[in-house]
Amino acid sequence: MNKYKAIALVSGGLDSILSALWMQKLGYEVIPLFFETPFFTPKKAKSATCAAGLTLTVQNISEDFLQMLKHPRYGFGKNFNPCVDCHGLMFRKAAEFMAESGADFLISGEVLGQRRMSQRMDTLNAVRKLSGVAELIIRPLSQKLLPDTKPIVEGWIDKNNLLDFNGRGRKRQIQLAKEFKLSTFVSPGGGCLLTESNYCKKLKDLFDYDQLDVRQADLLKYGRQFRINGNMKLLVGKTEQDNEMIEKLAANYILLTPEYVTGPLGLILHKGKPSEDEIRLAASILLAYTNKAETEDSVLYGKKNNLNLKAQVCKMSLEKMKNYHLN
Ligand code: SF4
Repeated sequence: MNKYKAIALVSGGLDSILSALWMQKLGYEVIPLFFETPFFTPKKAKSATCAAGLTLTVQNISEDFLQMLKHPRYGFGKNFNPCVDCHGLMFRKAAEFMAESGADFLISGEVLGQRRMSQRMDTLNAVRKLSGVAELIIRPLSQKLLPDTKPIVEGWIDKNNLLDFNGRGRKRQIQLAKEFKLSTFVSPGGGCLLTESNYCKKLKDLFDYDQLDVRQADLLKYGRQFRINGNMKLLVGKTEQDNEMIEKLAANYILLTPEYVTGPLGLILHKGKPSEDEIRLAASILLAYTNKAETEDSVLYGKKNNLNLKAQVCKMSLEKMKNYHLN
């Protein structure tokens, strides 16, 4: 075993797994690290590392990520994906973890020229600058084509043992995956909600109304979403899982549920305190998604575990709901 230790940034995509396995094969101790945000959960990274025989460490960086997302220095990709700034932030956070874990350098799975925005030479350099630890970054799959950094200059790594993958083709990765007996998974990446246009439409609404925080970003994943006015949003669960998550994430916001029949759970997200008219409007939307309810029916509302207030309302028409529906 080599005496030098590396932190591997792992997304769950094939390239990040291959770069970790490659360094491990060269005899380095590798600590795979995943950064969780409301937009990227560790589910895929956990199963990919597990399949590769690696043990994943997960760190939540949601607050730092949201701050960066509000003003990314290098802007956005096709949707709300600030890939250059995201990579820079992840390297910065990984460097903090490197100090804690006694590691010597950082590795990641970028392949030169693979993706339009984040893996061109100029953007790889931008990431290096943003990270604040440019001299400690090694990209094992393409490092032969990249400028030398400290681990090479100091002789911790022999550059000849690193690879020269280049371009958008996947053949060499797939070949390497087979050598590592990982032939069943060939996904190049994916899984980030900031690249999904439907999710980003809802996210834009939070930006537009200055309501973006970790809880609101998490809640965008569940149920139907309605923009009622500048101060208020409404969520209505579509599935049982939505209802469970809405209840779990409700905090101090107001929940609604039909009084006499089973139906969805609603959640009012308000910047202040909703008025009675706003609650009645929310209740009439909730009722519209409650099949078993009468055209006019009763809805209970209140804080979590204390839904002790009532509103008697009529179901809102589909036509009228179009004015509020976000997705
Ligand atoms: S796709 Fe998402 S997780 Fe990946 S670099 Fe871009 S913003 Fe970050």
